[in-house]
Amino acid sequence: MFVSLYNFDDEVRKEFSFKEIKINDTTLRDGEQTPGVVFSDEEKVEIARMLDEVGIQQIEAGTPAMSDGEANAVKSIVKEGLSASIMGWSRAVKEDIDAVIDTDADAVAISIATSDIHLQYKLKMTREEVLERAVSMVEYAKSHGLYISLNSEDATRTNLAFLKEFAKKGKEAGADRLRICDTLGVLIPASSRFLTKRIIDKAKIPVEIHTHNDYGLAVANALAAFEAGAEWASTTVNGLGERAGNSSLEGVIMSLIKLYNLELPFKIDRIYNLSEFVGAASGIPVPLGRSIVGRHMFTHESGIHVDGILKYPYTYESFMPDEIGASREIVIGKHSGKHAVWDKLNELGIDVTKEQLLEILSIIKESSESRKSSITDAELKQIAHEIK
Ligand code: MN
Repeated sequence: MFVSLYNFDDEVRKEFSFKEIKINDTTLRDGEQTPGVVFSDEEKVEIARMLDEVGIQQIEAGTPAMSDGEANAVKSIVKEGLSASIMGWSRAVKEDIDAVIDTDADAVAISIATSDIHLQYKLKMTREEVLERAVSMVEYAKSHGLYISLNSEDATRTNLAFLKEFAKKGKEAGADRLRICDTLGVLIPASSRFLTKRIIDKAKIPVEIHTHNDYGLAVANALAAFEAGAEWASTTVNGLGERAGNSSLEGVIMSLIKLYNLELPFKIDRIYNLSEFVGAASGIPVPLGRSIVGRHMFTHESGIHVDGILKYPYTYESFMPDEIGASREIVIGKHSGKHAVWDKLNELGIDVTKEQLLEILSIIKESSESRKSSITDAELKQIAHEIK
């Protein structure tokens, strides 16, 4: 066990009521709503294939009503015949649902806002009208045999009694689950647990949690909902999405597997490639310091850390880079110690004496400090040859 032992303390775990966990990935829908991001049809199909290889249970492939191009992309993904269920996103209007039906997707997300702010200022509808619309649209989609995630937009700022009624009526009309949308990313883990539990207890409907990262809590809030019995979470690769993005696929899956030690069917060794592909296709490269998939997760420079890593990697890494398909890198620079430089020189096939090593190390520190960057392998070779 290489994560905190306190994750497994009875006191901590007694609150957990995990159910079977499934992921709805919405990189192609909510992820593409990131300002400036447009995936080509080929990229969409490739991303869907890669998600399917990871073992994602459901792919939210797009909003068919938005354009013919979008509808065609969803159709192409359906034609791939993947193991994953393919979901189309729709507002709670008939034309949108018809557009989903037309793609042959097997599932639909039907979305309508439920908070008073959205009802009053955006939809200009009463709660009764929202209920009526949701029920009739769920019934309509069900009559066409679709699996339905009923989305309560801005659920986390919605009156609880109304949200329960919305969930209950939705279920009676044929919704297969309720998507609790934290549209503005304003939950905290404790309230995510509370709300999930309440909806499951009172409305008896499976819950999907859909969280945003405005306060950096998207993954934590999704995990909290799972702890409370949510069966689904929506994610995006690299946490793409509007504003600060959504809960990330890699963050949610790796946390469930590593931090909670749950046995899940996902092939995590594909995660790094998927992340890199989405980074390139979206035009938003993965930040170096990003959790799980950022390059710096596996890049070490500081002497103390490198020394530990070389002796036993778990001293400074809780999972090995190759588990997700990445590789480790030791960087030589200002913060390097003897062990790292010795190891690097060995790797480059250069033998030095102890005295030479210390000389090389001091040159490395000097030049790294003066130019404010690390030293490449080629430069290290050069330095070593000069000293020798
Ligand atoms: Mn969203």
